[in-house]
Amino acid sequence: MTIRKWLFALASTTLVCALIAPDVKASQPIIKDRTYYEKRGDIVWEAPVSKKQIAFTFDDGPDEEETVQILELLKKYDAKATFFVVGQQSKTKGHLIRREIAEGHEVGNHTYFHTFADQIKKKEDYMKELEDTDRIIEEAGAPKPTLFRPPGGVYNDIVLESAKKRGYTIVLWSWHQDTADWSRPGKQRIINKVLRNARNGDIVLFHDNVHGQSQTVKALERILPELKKQGYQFVTVSELLKTKEKEVMELP
Ligand SMILES: [Zn+2]
Repeated sequence: MTIRKWLFALASTTLVCALIAPDVKASQPIIKDRTYYEKRGDIVWEAPVSKKQIAFTFDDGPDEEETVQILELLKKYDAKATFFVVGQQSKTKGHLIRREIAEGHEVGNHTYFHTFADQIKKKEDYMKELEDTDRIIEEAGAPKPTLFRPPGGVYNDIVLESAKKRGYTIVLWSWHQDTADWSRPGKQRIINKVLRNARNGDIVLFHDNVHGQSQTVKALERILPELKKQGYQFVTVSELLKTKEKEVMELP
């Protein structure tokens, strides 16, 4: 092949590639992994910040005993947290939701029946669960929730669409901060999980309605003073997200 012919062949190939490139690109499958949802801001797992802030979250309450004990401890250490409440559970416990708000915490929606995404039968039913739970929270005197946590952290298109329609941000938790306290793994395991992994901007998963003898309160009695000693500030998820936003804005 002469150089001229070779150059011509190269130019043709480049031209063909340029022409087909957009199609090739358009047909690439979109991988909907954590990065995809995180970049779009649909789902939050954590919010890395330079400030020493950490967000504790408590699911499945409120409960007359556990929630009250946790609230007492949070107050003692000047800690604010986020409670993802279940509608059915909250119906007769408006006083606890009121107290959570009065003490500076945040209340988020965790469905009415604690329905997992793979158990949803009709989209309308799921929407109703979210609406009913919001109503109970608002009737208790709390602001309309802006945060939603799907039970089990399981999500699908129905969960995502419903949350979007209702204007929620879906909040899961840092993968290294799943205490599994609901399974009662032992106080020490819960303590180790949190203390050995704590980083700025973590969202820690706890429960304030564990059936049987909860180990969460006992673990918190150690976790709270230790992290406080290390200089951590315990904030609500919304507060943490605000810090993150502010830090991003301030970037040069
Ligand atoms: Zn739950």
